[in-house]
Amino acid sequence: STVSSNRVALVTGGSRGIGAATALRLAQDGADVALTYARDEAAAQEVVRKIEACGRRAVALRADSADPEAVPAAVHRTAETFGRIDILVNNAGIGVLGPIDTLTTADVDRVLAVNVRAVFLACRAAAGVMERGGRIISLGTAMSRFAGGPGGTLYAMSKSALSGLTKPLARELGARGITVNLVQPGPVDTDLNPADGPFAAGQRAATALDRFGTAGEVAALIAYLTGDEAAYITGTEILVDGGHAA
Ligand code: NDP
Repeated sequence: STVSSNRVALVTGGSRGIGAATALRLAQDGADVALTYARDEAAAQEVVRKIEACGRRAVALRADSADPEAVPAAVHRTAETFGRIDILVNNAGIGVLGPIDTLTTADVDRVLAVNVRAVFLACRAAAGVMERGGRIISLGTAMSRFAGGPGGTLYAMSKSALSGLTKPLARELGARGITVNLVQPGPVDTDLNPADGPFAAGQRAATALDRFGTAGEVAALIAYLTGDEAAYITGTEILVDGGHAA
């Protein structure tokens, strides 16, 4: 168990993929968990049921990260529902890939709203209510280190902004004993990036381990960063990428 018991976590985009695995892992380690979702309420409620089966409390909050009101509201709902918030995992994210001339201005606005603005607003809200020992972890991408091929301009640009957020926020919140870190996964088998999808072969070949990672392997790193043993890790970027950037 990596999470000190009776902690409260909010995982954005916790209904599927890496977020669902993280929500469940943090619950298994002893946290009560709020998770947000945008569309798939049934999937979100299924994660809630699994968490409750672990003996922890859980709540699913509909909160589209594209809406600037929604994510800060979810932070406050979490603190109201469970009495506090110790862990924020900024996981919700979208990948809009393609040659630069196919990416519209609307694509740019939406990707930046979900992948960047919502993370900033969640951090601002969480920083206002977190106590000593708090943990903020965001999901970037290994593509910030190694593009691997064309098509990633908008997605990698948006995720790279989280490097610019992580270091100064770690400096701001360090005096209060709150850590801020960025996890950068390589290819991970989810609905967003299926291991049998049309772009899978090249991604697999670009890793040293010649395989996709699992959502659980990313969740394990996030769980470690939330724990007492990771108290001296802050302001850093940690890859879990099968050697994609090597
Ligand atoms: P999935 O698409 O499999 O799952 C995304 C989750 O986020 C779902 O729970 C979805 O809920 C939710 N979500 C999507 N859009 C929004 C939104 N606008 N507001 C709130 N929730 C939303 O993604 P992954 O699990 O693969 O990815 C999770 C994170 O990890 C993302 O930030 C992604 O960029 C990053 N990442 C993923 C990699 C991969 O290879 N899979 C590699 C590197 C980084 P709903 O169904 O309700 O919309």
